[in-house]
Amino acid sequence: MHAGAPVSTAARRPIRALPEELISQIAAGEVIERPASVVRELVDNALDAGATEITVRLAAGGVRAIAVEDDGSGIPADELALALQRHATSKIGSLAELESVATLGFRGEALAAIASVAEVAITSRAAGAPHALRLDARSGELAPAARATGTTVEVRELFFATPARRKFLKTDATELAHGVEAVRRHAIAHPEVAFFVWHDGKPVAQWRRGSAEQRVRDALGEDFLRGSRALDAAAAARAVPLRGPNAVCGLSGRVGLPDAARARADLQYLYVNGRHVRDRLVAHALRSAYDDVLHGQRQPSWLLFIELDATRLDVNVHPAKMEVRFRDGRAIHEAVRRAAEAALALPRAEVARPALFEPNEASAPVAYPAPAKQQPLRLVAGEPRFAWPGEPAAAAVPPDAPVDRPAGQPLGRALAQLGGIYILAENDEGLVIVDMHAAHERVVYERLKAALAERQADGIEAQPLLIPASFAATAAEIAAAESHVETLRRLGLDVAPLGPGMLAVRSQPAALGGGDAVALARAVLAELAQHEASEAIARAQHEILSSMACHGAVRANRRLTIDEMNALLRDMERTERADQCNHGRPTWRQLTLKDLDARFLRGR
Ligand code: ADP
Ligand code: MG
Repeated sequence: MHAGAPVSTAARRPIRALPEELISQIAAGEVIERPASVVRELVDNALDAGATEITVRLAAGGVRAIAVEDDGSGIPADELALALQRHATSKIGSLAELESVATLGFRGEALAAIASVAEVAITSRAAGAPHALRLDARSGELAPAARATGTTVEVRELFFATPARRKFLKTDATELAHGVEAVRRHAIAHPEVAFFVWHDGKPVAQWRRGSAEQRVRDALGEDFLRGSRALDAAAAARAVPLRGPNAVCGLSGRVGLPDAARARADLQYLYVNGRHVRDRLVAHALRSAYDDVLHGQRQPSWLLFIELDATRLDVNVHPAKMEVRFRDGRAIHEAVRRAAEAALALPRAEVARPALFEPNEASAPVAYPAPAKQQPLRLVAGEPRFAWPGEPAAAAVPPDAPVDRPAGQPLGRALAQLGGIYILAENDEGLVIVDMHAAHERVVYERLKAALAERQADGIEAQPLLIPASFAATAAEIAAAESHVETLRRLGLDVAPLGPGMLAVRSQPAALGGGDAVALARAVLAELAQHEASEAIARAQHEILSSMACHGAVRANRRLTIDEMNALLRDMERTERADQCNHGRPTWRQLTLKDLDARFLRGR
């Protein structure tokens, strides 16, 4: 069959075993998509070999040539030819080892796949070997060579024998960018290894050995560090055990602040046991941590490292090892969401000097004033804050009361109101400008949410429907309803099978009474089927609270006294997520004295 001639289904041909070469080329199709895939596999191998320095050289975006050189363990002379064989690996030898893989590679396929779609040569010297050997994959020729312990794999003319594949490649510049990105992904997780990337004889990227923080700064940029917060592993530990049989052993990394969100999801990195992967469950958990503070299509940036017992993880689910499967997806989802949510909830004013990485253990729980007993609520007329029954309305928080926090009062002391919209305040750094409606709206909203959460500690109150609402359900919806009965109950939903292909909603959350029970149930089931968790009900409730808060918050042009302004500032300091209003916009900005000096050209 030649290119372009489709196989006719009309004239059947006898079944034949495919030639070995074609089998490899078919397998390569899954693993090697572009030069960057080759880079990824070769750097995987170098890291598995314990390299401390890895140099990647690319020519014409990697299409013409890729060479990866490492100072790892090297390959003994008598194993060199085996390295190129399919299903030949030094990394696993049994099913038990497959189930607890600790290396990046384990399929024994990469080098064979690459050699079936490119010209490959391996030069390697094992520790203690008298000299290196170079093996040409095509000719099988073996020749002595000079190099120190370690391995160099050269790959030339990618897809030379499969021109159809070659046509899918983009410009050299694009392929180069993908190649550099492949190295960056490894570099982020391996600060103990130095990486150098060259293109057409010129250095294009380098990451020197250093601390984890330094590597993140070098690989992702200072802006990412400034615009992000360390994940709160202690918050995850409170929700999911960090020790014991189902433990999420380690969770660390950083989440970008809402105002650092991007148009594309291009700054989202997940590592599971040091392996860079994509994962919808984790991405969903992280996105739901931003539900309240990031609206529309903006994409948050994040860097997340999850460490798990290798047996709690299936790494053998994707040919290019780009995905993993968690045994306990529910716990992972919960831990990730809580850790991200807690990091984002901390008002910015609280974070005096942001730490790059918080300790990964529950050793330093964030000292945060717990919301007081908070129900029922009432809005005190003429006051920019809520008061609780029995609480003196006006001065529950004396405006000048010292706040038990060494940073004093991060949002400072109110000076004046501007344009009926902004509060101007002075702190140690300079001028603080607060959007009073947006800020108050968030304060009110968080109070309402806390009150609701407290009332729902044992699950959301359910209200039986007078007439159960039945609907024709998909197999996936029925399966989700059957396997998440308890989760549904806690969400205030009773969804049960009603004959073949039918589900019936018998109760729904009381707080959402009157809504479309079927639409709600289907949204929840869809999320449960896909992510093992559903935030749909919380979202629906929060929408209601959010519009209540909007109506309850001080309006523009309301004159506030200095005391009222100070009370709002103190409230903001105590309120989670106070840096964004309910629509994701900032509630306050700092103009430092340095900013002002610069505007007035002082000190020049
Ligand atoms: P896998 O990594 O899944 O084992 P590969 O085809 O990538 O499969 O490599 C086959 C084998 O060749 C590896 O198991 C390893 O023993 C050896 N090998 C490949 N690259 C290197 C390297 N850079 N340094 C040392 N050994 C290597
Ligand atoms: Mg490999």
